[in-house]
Formats: sequence, C-alpha cells, structure tokens
Amino acid sequence: EGEEAQEEIRELEELIPGLSERYRLLGRIGEGTFSTVYKALDLCHERYDNSSWTRIFDEDDDEDDNGTANAAPAPSDAAAPAATESGMQRRRETRRARVVAIKKLYVTSSPARIANEISILDELRGNRFVAPLVTAMRRRDQVVVVLPYFRNDDFRRFYLELPVGEMRWYLRSLLSALQYTHSKGIMHRDIKPSNFLYDVRRRHGVLVDFGLAERECDQEAARARSRRSLHMDASTAARLFHSFDQRGRPGVPRKDTRPALRANRAGTRGFRAPEVLLKIPRQSVAIDIWSVGVILLCLLTRRFPFFQSVDDTEALLEISVLYGRLEMERVVADLGRTFFTNIPTVKDRGIRFESLAKAYNPEGYPDLPPDAFDLLRRLLDLNPSTRITAAAALDHPFVAGRSH
Ligand code: ADP
Ligand code: MG
Repeated sequence: EGEEAQEEIRELEELIPGLSERYRLLGRIGEGTFSTVYKALDLCHERYDNSSWTRIFDEDDDEDDNGTANAAPAPSDAAAPAATESGMQRRRETRRARVVAIKKLYVTSSPARIANEISILDELRGNRFVAPLVTAMRRRDQVVVVLPYFRNDDFRRFYLELPVGEMRWYLRSLLSALQYTHSKGIMHRDIKPSNFLYDVRRRHGVLVDFGLAERECDQEAARARSRRSLHMDASTAARLFHSFDQRGRPGVPRKDTRPALRANRAGTRGFRAPEVLLKIPRQSVAIDIWSVGVILLCLLTRRFPFFQSVDDTEALLEISVLYGRLEMERVVADLGRTFFTNIPTVKDRGIRFESLAKAYNPEGYPDLPPDAFDLLRRLLDLNPSTRITAAAALDHPFVAGRSH
C-alpha cells in the first residue's frame, strides 16, 4: 500500500516538472470523482505574499497542529528568515504555510471544467471560510491545483456525537462560506460534508471543491447563447436548404450536433435541491442552501446519508414522503412542472421534522431548542424563491446563538 502510494507520488512528480523542487509530497489524502488530493510540504513558502493565505495561517496555526510539519526537514536556505528576526518570529515564519494540499485533476475532466474551477477559486480568494488558491500548475493536459492544507475531522466520525451547541459552529462556518460565495453570484453546486473541511476542536471550517461551481450569470449567458445559436442555425440551415434547392439537389436537414439545451443536474445524489431534481433551467444559489438543510437533517436525525435514492425520480419521491403529496404538487406547480405519484408511501400530508427526528433519533438531544426545526424548515423550503438565504440563516437564532 505504502509502496503503491510512493509510486503514485513519483509519477505525479514526473508528470509536472518543477513540482518536486517546490513541494515535497507526503501522501494521498483524498480521492474524489474528478481528482486525487495529496498532502505536501511547500518548500518555497516565502514566495507567497497573498494576504488571505497569511491571515488564515495566523489564525489557525496552533502549537499542536500538523505533526508532519514539526517532523519536516528544515526549509531550504532560500526560505530562511532574515537574521534580525527573533527566534520566536522565525519559528512562526517557518511554520506558516508549510503544509499544502495538491489536487491533481483527472485528465478526463474537460479543459473548460478545469478552467472554470481555477477561475472561480481565484475569484474567491480572501475569505477565511473558503480555501484559497495558492497556485495552479499545468503540463499538457495535466493540471494540479495547490491549496493550503486544512486539518479536518471526518463527518462520519463526529456526526453522531456532535453536541447541539457545536452544530451552531458548524453551520456558522458553512453559511459564512456560502454567504461570501453567493455574494459573488457563484453557486457551489456540490455542498456536502466531504466538500466542507471542518475542524471540530477549532470550530472552524473551509469550503473546498469548486469543481462543479457555476456563476449564476454564466447560466443565463449560456442559455442566451444557446437561443441565439439556435436562431442563427435555423437561418443558416434555411439558406443552405435554399441553395441546395437551386442546384436541384434535395435539401437534407443536417443532424444537429450541438449539445441539447439542458438544465444542469450535477451535484451529489441525496443533496440535490428539488429544482435541480426537476431540471428547472434557471437555478440560483438557493440550491446550496437546500444542501445545508440536508446536512442539518442528518445531524438532527443522526442518519447519514439521510436520502438513499439511486436516481432523481426516487430522490423526488423521498422528498415527497417528507412533505406530503399535496404540498409537493403545489410547489412543483409553482415551479412550472407537474408532479404525479400513486405510490402508497407518499401520503397526502407530510411528516413533521420533529417527529422524523424522534423516529430516527429516539434518545433525542436533551437541550435541542425548538428553533433548530424552524431553521431546518427554512433551509429545506421546497420553493427556491422563498428559501432562506445564507445571510438570513446566519442571523437565525439557532445559528446566531440566541436560541430558546
Ligand atoms: P473532488 O473534486 O475529487 O471531490 P475535493 O476538492 O473535494 O476533490 O477533494 C477531495 C478530498 O480531499 C476532500 O474531501 C478532502 O478530504 C481532501 N482535501 C481537499 N482539499 C483539501 C485541503 N485544502 N486540505 C485538506 N484536505 C483536503
Ligand atoms: Mg469533493
């Protein structure tokens, strides 16, 4: 296993020239659909003058952090601080920004997707709840993205034991990250625990993985472009058809090879908002808020993942069981779609979240304030246009700490 990892690291170092001069790869820390992530030491950290980078490490750099950083060999001469600095300062300097995460994007991801992720990361620099881009390196079709390393706890390990008082801190970091991201008109589109690196002890988390993120305006531009090109293509086709006719040949309509106009459906099963499942073409940052609701639902029911569906239709049915057929029909009609089901598990009326939490988590949380469920209902509002915003959720008593 260890040898395999070493082999993989050697391959990566060979793939991108210059990588091994700047970073010492320590091992693999994550593997997703679109990438493999490695932990590494940055050997040239003094080169960075990015203020967000410095700020994050000033705040987060505790004495007992990252054993690997302590065990690391001394930095290169180039990184040695000026002799005038005190030993204390020097230690802080050399410890700062030492550990990074190197995300190797699979070459199968489209160049447009990779460019999108990097440009969005670049735009989102400067917020302590969003992992800032350090740099990106490319060699032919191989791209790596470098981020500061954030130590984090695995959601699967802590969701059963997280005290109610701590849920608030989790939500605060996550909603702060989204408030910032959404203020830039960017939808993350894949909010789930593995994309939010949370440190329980520090009560701090950062949002990562903007691989599926999209600007709200791009969505419209893409649609407008698509409409325009549809129009142009029609007239071009008409002209072609006409000239064919004049030459006395049959006009054969050519096969349209452009991608079909489709609503974006990406994201992770079980965290997808109803408007995503319904393929509503115009989506908004509210899709991320739904996913936050699903996470809170997992915490309050102590069930993760909460939704188990294998496809979008089934996912809609699972949501319908919660909300009831009547409510579901009403909201789906508001969204311009129709909803029909005769599956007996979908009753006319839904299940109260309070009863649901009790059913799954009978011991309950002794000190759970009732407004936790009020927040849950607002996050999981079926209708994206009335769903609570990140900013408003931060101000909700359960998150702001004014619960009773
Ligand atoms: P993917 O697109 O493959 O899901 P992610 O960006 O979500 O890639 O990274 C995959 C995993 O790698 C994350 O779930 C996390 O465990 C780990 N990871 C990613 N970035 C960092 C980071 N900056 N610090 C620590 N761990 C990270
Ligand atoms: Mg991910």
